[in-house]
Amino acid sequence: MLPVVALVGRPNVGKSTLFNRLTRTRDALVADFPGLTRDRKYGHANYDGYQFIVIDTAGVHGDEEGIDAEMASQSLRAIDEADVVLFMVDARDGITSADLGIAKHLRSIGKKAYVVANKIDGIDAEAAQADFYELGLGQIYGIAAAHGRGVEQLLGKCFDPLLDDYPELMVRGASTEEGDAEDAESQDLEHDEIDYDALPLKLAIVGRPNVGKSTLTNRILGEERVVVYDMPGTTRDSIYIPMERDGREYILIDTAGVRRRGRIDETVEKFSVIKTLQAIDDANVVICVVDARETISDQDLNLIGFALNAGRSIVIAVNKWDGLANDHREEIKRELDRRLGFVDFARLHFISALHGSGVGNLFESVLEAYASATQRVNTSKLTRILEMAIDEHQPPLVRGRRVKLKYAHAGGYNPPRVIVHGNQVTDLPGSYQRYLINYFRKSLGIMGTPIKVEFRESE
Ligand code: GDP
Ligand code: GDP
Repeated sequence: MLPVVALVGRPNVGKSTLFNRLTRTRDALVADFPGLTRDRKYGHANYDGYQFIVIDTAGVHGDEEGIDAEMASQSLRAIDEADVVLFMVDARDGITSADLGIAKHLRSIGKKAYVVANKIDGIDAEAAQADFYELGLGQIYGIAAAHGRGVEQLLGKCFDPLLDDYPELMVRGASTEEGDAEDAESQDLEHDEIDYDALPLKLAIVGRPNVGKSTLTNRILGEERVVVYDMPGTTRDSIYIPMERDGREYILIDTAGVRRRGRIDETVEKFSVIKTLQAIDDANVVICVVDARETISDQDLNLIGFALNAGRSIVIAVNKWDGLANDHREEIKRELDRRLGFVDFARLHFISALHGSGVGNLFESVLEAYASATQRVNTSKLTRILEMAIDEHQPPLVRGRRVKLKYAHAGGYNPPRVIVHGNQVTDLPGSYQRYLINYFRKSLGIMGTPIKVEFRESE
């Protein structure tokens, strides 16, 4: 599980700026769920060696009189979902009544909140910050979100107390280039010793509300085996169900709350973005379910994008394929081809969770994706593939000199990372980089999992 950080504060204090900075390294990840969450925006942050989920409440309208209704519905939800709240204020404006209203609420709920005075660039930070002690929330952390100043110190403060509870918070080997190489090597060794086939495969089923996740989960488990038990859980908790199929162990991560069905007084919302994002983070393979009867939406694409950027293997299940006319099916397929071009390496399955058709085949792709993500490849094989790629298609000339690519080695697994060493690699055009990525993908037979190719300058 990753910790969840909520950014709250009145408009224009710089929440979006900080959100973008925190999620920038993987910005395609920003999971914006319009309609579902209204103005809450969720992202996977990977910053300064920490990874966590961040919620931005960009649309919150502070109000001169205090927290207005919109604030109540959005910020309060975000605060509720978070482990840590970053309460942002504008160091240049000084304290406002809206700030006081938010502070009062934060003090009353007793959740860990840090006051972050933004925009301290070019002003007397000390003096500006002093103003905000009046909020009654302790120390003030000055930052300039636009420039990154103070952000590392702030995160260190927030996360130190969480390290015991959230070991995944620290990114392994996120540090220096040298550290990276060493880390890759030790990861290499570790990887060679792991018997991935013997480990239970963690499989998450995710998708928008009503696409058929519960129906699919039930189908997979076999109806008779679903015991509805009354498990208290929060919106954030998925249910982990061990299961076996064809002699292989799985842990099904149920985001749909099948097992909680039957509780009429269920107050937690069935669909929760945080729950979905946590499940993706925790899974080896993600089945992204979309509804054939609805046009594919930005929410669907964001979920898939989030899974890919988190480095997860994915299989796409187009559900409710039963009872559709042939020409309608053709039309749906064309639309999917058009919109899912960015994940053309993921298997697409047309299924009916209701009737069970196609569900068995899903598992073949799940296993294929997992095998792709965890396969062992050595330096000599990768270098050979690199040489073949160069033979077929020379790197371009840059300022009269040819970019020279020398050798490749594995930089990690889950998702597979290939490190290519050479000269002038920073000049390698994007088109050639994409050519190499595809070449590695095809040569290694990698399906269903994102592959990363990184370039390093050799001495
Ligand atoms: P939000 O409404 O709280 O999400 O605020 P935004 O992130 O949209 O920022 C509001 C304005 O403040 C924008 O014009 C930003 O460029 C500006 N801003 C954000 N961070 C900084 C900062 O660190 N320094 C300065 N000088 N301006 C900033
Ligand atoms: P969830 O919110 O994603 O868990 O979706 P549910 O599993 O609760 O399904 C939502 C609705 O779609 C229910 O009425 C299901 O009966 C229906 N449904 C689910 N799968 C299928 C399917 O394969 N075909 C058809 N026709 N309906 C389905």
